[in-house]
Amino acid sequence: MKGLTVLGSTGSIGVSTLDVVARHPEKYCIVALTANRDVEGMLLQCERFKPKIAVMADTESANLLARGLSQKGISTEVLSGLRGLEIAAAIPEAEIVMAAIVGAAGLLPALAAVRAGKRLLLANKEALVVAGSLFMAEVAAHGAEILPIDSEHNAVFQCLPPGGEGLTPGGVKRILLTASGGPFRTMPIEQLAGVTPAQACAHPNWDMGRKISVDSATMMNKGLEVIEAHWLFGAEAEEIQVVLHPQSIIHSMVEYVDGSVLAQLGNPDMRTPIAHALAWPQRIDSGVDSLNLFQVARLDFDQPDLQRYPCLKLAYQAIQSGGTASVILNAANEVAVEAFLAERLAFTDIAWVVDETLQRLSVENGDDLDTLLDIDRQGRAIAEQVAQNRVISSDIG
Ligand code: NAD
Ligand code: MG
Repeated sequence: MKGLTVLGSTGSIGVSTLDVVARHPEKYCIVALTANRDVEGMLLQCERFKPKIAVMADTESANLLARGLSQKGISTEVLSGLRGLEIAAAIPEAEIVMAAIVGAAGLLPALAAVRAGKRLLLANKEALVVAGSLFMAEVAAHGAEILPIDSEHNAVFQCLPPGGEGLTPGGVKRILLTASGGPFRTMPIEQLAGVTPAQACAHPNWDMGRKISVDSATMMNKGLEVIEAHWLFGAEAEEIQVVLHPQSIIHSMVEYVDGSVLAQLGNPDMRTPIAHALAWPQRIDSGVDSLNLFQVARLDFDQPDLQRYPCLKLAYQAIQSGGTASVILNAANEVAVEAFLAERLAFTDIAWVVDETLQRLSVENGDDLDTLLDIDRQGRAIAEQVAQNRVISSDIG
């Protein structure tokens, strides 16, 4: 029996993780669950999985949860804040930690799991975008293990040579990251400025949280994933090619020097990578339907158009700039996406805010945690200002 902590258990990945776990009660038990402010959702999860601890982001939500639990006679201990998250991530009873908090907020809890030498199931790509170099060094230093949950990276992991010998020694030529292109792939570009959050969140193939859904629509998600692949697999930006594949059936591919291209296919359902990483190197049932190729019938491929997806270009530029450029990119994107979701910013202004913020902040080389967190804070503050000015100027216009 393996113990599991799920960071971000009430979100899309968290819920899918618990769905897989519930299929294997003889293999996995839930030790700790964490959420932001969804007290109702957490209460139901505690009732079902009886974790040792549950963590809420703030004390008010934690108090509400504690009251609800005591009314139901559930003995789960309730903690709150970053300290609570770090305790949940490093708790000795959990061998495996699912990192499924969204955004840079997930970095410190994921690092706590790494420093405790856990098997880390990494969905929270922003942690690697913000602190890739430091994160991978800590994984090596503490004998932790990272298994990618992002479907593309999980696919690449499955297609790479099994010995983990690195790309060049393993005969790998390049990584082909597939991307659906999101809900606006064929919309006339001049209409993009008017799209609503509801339209942006209606992904054609995947059912995901709101932030990553918007990122998929701008393709910033793919940009973040290129950076994620760079750190996870030690690949240079030129060794990672993005391929538009609207059906989302091939989750990514690895090309070898002999011309072989290995792909991982399946229905677009995150329970496949979750089950893969939970049980690796074994395989367990995930609840995902068999892939019906007759129903799929065809697979299409195309090059991404950078006019339509300027965020993808900005992400590639951030890798080239190196240093703290990806921290600024990520911080500005988080602010801009939130402003778009709150209907304070137009969809096409997301890329504009990110670009403008990158131009206003100089890139530094430091990769210690304090520098990274400080740049993250600065990036957010500047992006807020930039977004605010944009709103004002477009109101006047
Ligand atoms: P989501 O918004 O559905 O869930 C996020 C979870 O994190 C929730 O439990 C929420 O309560 C918690 N949370 C949010 N902000 C927090 C904070 N400041 N402090 C503590 N907890 C907080 O998001 P999601 O779609 O499940 O995505 C989670 C992560 O997984 C993201 O990094 C995303 O990029 C990545 N990912 C998601 C998918 C997917 O299919 N949803 C696929 C690949 C990668
Ligand atoms: Mg992905």
